[in-house]
Amino acid sequence: GRVVPKYSTFAAVENPETPVKVNYTQLLIDGKFVDSVSGKTFATYDPRTGDEIAHVAEGDAEDINRAVVAARKAFDEGPWPKMTAYERSMVLFRFADLIDKHAEELAALETWNNGKTYEQASKAELPMISRLIRYYAGWADKIHGLTAPADSAHAVQTIHEPIGVAGQIIPWNFPLLMFAWKVAPALACGNTIVLKTAEQTPLSALYAAKLLHEAGLPSGVLNVVSGFGPTAGAALASHMDVDKLAFTGSTQTGKIVLELAAKSNLKPVTLELGGKSPFIVCKDADIDTAVELAHFALFFNQGQCCCAGSRTYVHESVYDEFVQKAKERALKRTVGDPFKAGIEQGPQIDSEQFEKILRYIRSGVDNGATLETGGERLGDKGYYIQPTVFSNVKEDMLIAQDEIFGPVQSILKFKDIDEVVRRANNTSYGLAAGVFTKDIDTANTLTRALRVGTVWVNCYDVFDAAIPFGGYKMSGQGREKGIHCLSNYLQVKAVVTPLKNPAWI
Ligand code: NAD
Repeated sequence: GRVVPKYSTFAAVENPETPVKVNYTQLLIDGKFVDSVSGKTFATYDPRTGDEIAHVAEGDAEDINRAVVAARKAFDEGPWPKMTAYERSMVLFRFADLIDKHAEELAALETWNNGKTYEQASKAELPMISRLIRYYAGWADKIHGLTAPADSAHAVQTIHEPIGVAGQIIPWNFPLLMFAWKVAPALACGNTIVLKTAEQTPLSALYAAKLLHEAGLPSGVLNVVSGFGPTAGAALASHMDVDKLAFTGSTQTGKIVLELAAKSNLKPVTLELGGKSPFIVCKDADIDTAVELAHFALFFNQGQCCCAGSRTYVHESVYDEFVQKAKERALKRTVGDPFKAGIEQGPQIDSEQFEKILRYIRSGVDNGATLETGGERLGDKGYYIQPTVFSNVKEDMLIAQDEIFGPVQSILKFKDIDEVVRRANNTSYGLAAGVFTKDIDTANTLTRALRVGTVWVNCYDVFDAAIPFGGYKMSGQGREKGIHCLSNYLQVKAVVTPLKNPAWI
């Protein structure tokens, strides 16, 4: 059964046009909601209509600085890094409980501000978020160093300490999930944080940050600043008192923040960037299942996923059948108000992305790819785009090279495994890949040969808190989630002590 949002449980509002009450629109600095120093605000929109939802405080360099000062103080003097790891873990466990308790409201905010379906937000993302928070809550009191073997005259131990003030910049495609991926491990390790949300989607993070304080987070430990990239984002990346930067977004902006970090205080940077992930359908694959999975790999979240399977490579022996069935599947995709039950695809995030995707579609047609279905705007308001399928796509076409970030599937033909490996790897990206085959040798060959951070074999977009995620090449640096993420937020200190007259020497 599908979950239909129960509007009546969302505070005061019962009108589906305004699905949930927006309670928090200011900046959250030092435990308090405050206006920006300049007093400026900016509008945030409903992608279903393009209408305004609310105005939120617009943070700027001065606000970032206020937030960093608060985070610095909370790190240097405050209780957070100094309290026991068990106490920190209990705050995170309570936070996860509050996320579950408020899941419907949070999912509604997410759908309203982003356009993703309510079913996806409430049934897939919110449970993933509380699961991830509990995963890192569990790690908080299991972070420990080693005693290192040394020459017999010295005792050596390593201590893992929080790195300090973490700056975090997140995108709009999974506003709350990205918030959780960033905040939970950083807090588990005892850091304090200044987080900048994406300008398109400021609402859910403010709500979640409020819940985190309700769970017992001390003031100043997490500061949330809404604002734009070149102002607030750049100020955070270049701040001299930020000890570490974590960024998710486009490769282009990733280069900018890395440069800002290098030019300021050389803060270490982790980057989760774009992708152009191949989804490889081998000749032995069950076609109906492959079609469904390839469809999901690309169209999930309106195609707005960094790991979208955006190059569908299909073996020549099954190509025509695959294309026909992929087209039929796309034609069946239900597009409409993401709050409605049974809808698979909502609007794109904003007019900029909407226009950009339509430009890519036109370039596909101009470059000679076959438009099997879709290609147009849907309706006359909001940012809906028809599920679009191109066949006869060639490597040198823009639609096969750029991250489109929209509901546009490009199907390419291949002859043999060596060739598809070469072509799949022939990109500056290396985030993920899908491999669809019944043959274990083919699966093993492809999983080893593909230069990507995640290979999904006979599945796609399987995410769990324990599975590391990140990119090869220009898809990023470092890993999020899993045990690997902890090292992003820890310093390792070696402590060396002479052993005086050890009895056994
Ligand atoms: P973006 O990279 O510009 O934005 C991501 C975040 O970076 C936002 O919070 C933004 O405010 C911030 N930012 C932007 N400019 C900055 C700067 N100079 N200094 C510091 N921070 C800055 O992405 P976008 O413009 O929202 O989307 C453009 C394209 O990026 C999309 O079409 C898509 O291809 C890609 N994208 C990828 C992801 C991902 O998860 N990998 C997410 C969103 C967008």
